[in-house]
Amino acid sequence: MFTLSNLNGVLAQTQPNLGGASRLFSYALEEMEKGDYEKANTYFRQIIENNLPISPEMPYYFAVTLYELEQYDNSMNFLNRYLQINGRNAEKYEEAKVLEENLKEPLEAIKACEFCNRQGYRVVACTTCEGEKELAQSCSLCKQRGVVGCNKCFGNGLLTKRNVFNLIEYHECDQCNGEGKHTCPRCDGDLNEFSTCRTCEGAGTLNSEEICDHKEKPRHMSQLFQRIQENHP
Ligand SMILES: [Zn+2]
Ligand SMILES: [Zn+2]
Ligand SMILES: [Zn+2]
Ligand SMILES: [Zn+2]
Repeated sequence: MFTLSNLNGVLAQTQPNLGGASRLFSYALEEMEKGDYEKANTYFRQIIENNLPISPEMPYYFAVTLYELEQYDNSMNFLNRYLQINGRNAEKYEEAKVLEENLKEPLEAIKACEFCNRQGYRVVACTTCEGEKELAQSCSLCKQRGVVGCNKCFGNGLLTKRNVFNLIEYHECDQCNGEGKHTCPRCDGDLNEFSTCRTCEGAGTLNSEEICDHKEKPRHMSQLFQRIQENHP
C-alpha cells in the first residue's frame, strides 16, 4: 500500500494568509494527515471548482487522496499533471513514481472488468430499457395492423396500362401480388417499431456512483431480496 511521508514538513512550509487556495490546501493536507481523505477531497475540489491558483505540489497530494478514495483513473490524471508541471525536479518525484506504480494494478483491474466504466464506477442496466438498448412502441406506419395498403396500386391490387390500341389493360400489381396491401415495411409485420433508448442513448447501461469491486452482482435488487427470503423462510 502507498503511504504518505513528509506531510509534516509540507505543512510547516505552507504559509498562512496567502489567500483562499493555500488555506484550503493546508486544510486538505491536515485532513490527509488525519486519514480523512473524504474531507481532504472536498477541500481539493473547492480549490478546483473555484478555479483558484494551485500550488505546483497540489496535484500530487490530490492524486494521493484520489488513490485512497479508489478513484484511480482520476488519480492518474492528477499524477500525470503533477509530473508534467514539475518534471524531474518535482519535490515528490520519487513518491509520485511509487504512486504511479501502485496505480498500475487497480487500473488494469478496471480495464479488465466488464462491470465498471473506465473510471471504475459500476455500470448498471438502464432502468428505462432494462438493458435492451432500444424501446418498442406500436408501429406508427401500420398502426399495429402489420400491413399497409399498397402504394403502387393504391390498394386496388390492379395496375392499369394503355395498350397499343389505346385500350386499358389490367395487370395484377407486382408489388402486392394483387392483394392491395402488403407486410408493413417499417415493422416487418411485428406491429412494433424500435427506437434507441434516450435514457442510456442506446448503451443499455448507466453509470452508478458505486466504486466497482469487479465482482458480479445480481442484476436487480429484487433478485437479491428474493434470495435472502429464500434463505430465511
Ligand atoms: Zn399493389
Ligand atoms: Zn408496421
Ligand atoms: Zn436504456
Ligand atoms: Zn469493475
